[in-house]
Amino acid sequence: MTAKVIDGKAFASNVRAQVATHVTRLKEVNGLTPGLAVVLVGEDPASEVYVRNKGKQTVEVGMNSYEHKLPAETSEEDLLALISRLNADPAVHGILVQLPLPGHLDSDLVINSIDPAKDVDGFHISNVGLLGTGQKSMVPCTPLGCLMMLRDHHGSLSGLNAVVVGRSNIVGKPMAQLLLADSCTVTIAHSRTKDLASVCRGADILVAAVGRPEMIPGDWVKPGATVIDVGINRIERDGKKKLVGDVEYGSAAEVAGAITPVPGGVGPMTIACLLANTLTACCRAHGLPEPE
Ligand code: NDP
Repeated sequence: MTAKVIDGKAFASNVRAQVATHVTRLKEVNGLTPGLAVVLVGEDPASEVYVRNKGKQTVEVGMNSYEHKLPAETSEEDLLALISRLNADPAVHGILVQLPLPGHLDSDLVINSIDPAKDVDGFHISNVGLLGTGQKSMVPCTPLGCLMMLRDHHGSLSGLNAVVVGRSNIVGKPMAQLLLADSCTVTIAHSRTKDLASVCRGADILVAAVGRPEMIPGDWVKPGATVIDVGINRIERDGKKKLVGDVEYGSAAEVAGAITPVPGGVGPMTIACLLANTLTACCRAHGLPEPE
């Protein structure tokens, strides 16, 4: 069997087009332009690329983008003061603080100082609690993108066995919550899991969010399973720099029913979902119906 390739790039471009249509309507009918503020502290090269892409795509869908680049030595007090100003600014509907923050800053404190209604990354403790209890929340962008692709491929996820490898607060745990809310039977695996191979082989849906290049080989994949590869790993092979996922794509694609490639799978969906969350935040802030 050769797996269907889930084209995250095309999917994301569709999501962005839908967001852009809603934004046009919001402007015309309600005189509103959603605004996203992105805060970057320090000069981490990967973060700078992400922030640039976010800004570009925000403007492309017709939203306002506000970038705040602060020096690495910025004090916690100054960062919290900026967030407080953004919380109070009616033109800003979404606030994202790019992680990781420099070591002297307390990420939990900073994230929890964002107004939960503007927390478009869904990392604020209130949103984590709302998601865990099945209430209306802001859903973290990467798992939301994975869920959208899974729903599109399967229709209903009810009763499927889902294995999420990785238990981080930004990917693994919220992914598991979303799959549970969609009535999957969910297993969360991590670095202490015994016999990970056989745990993975039980999965109808296998989500890999580990950060280890190609650690999941094809013979850990159940025939016909759907594989969502969240991993983004930069490696050097045959003298060339390359991006690979957490799954060994070639061997997994021979066994799986469907698979996301790296690059071009989960990655593009993350920013698309960030834009969708900003649109949702804007609609909620103004008491307007939320886009589907
Ligand atoms: P973290 O490092 O925060 O978490 C990694 C998880 O993997 C941990 O729970 C860890 O377990 C688990 N793990 C590590 N080694 C093993 C192992 N040998 N066997 C089983 N589990 C293991 O990573 P993130 O969740 O932040 O990111 C995961 C990957 O996803 C990375 O490659 C990252 O670049 C990528 N990513 C991609 C995004 C996108 O937009 N596509 C967005 C965010 C992340 P333990 O808890 O026991 O240590």
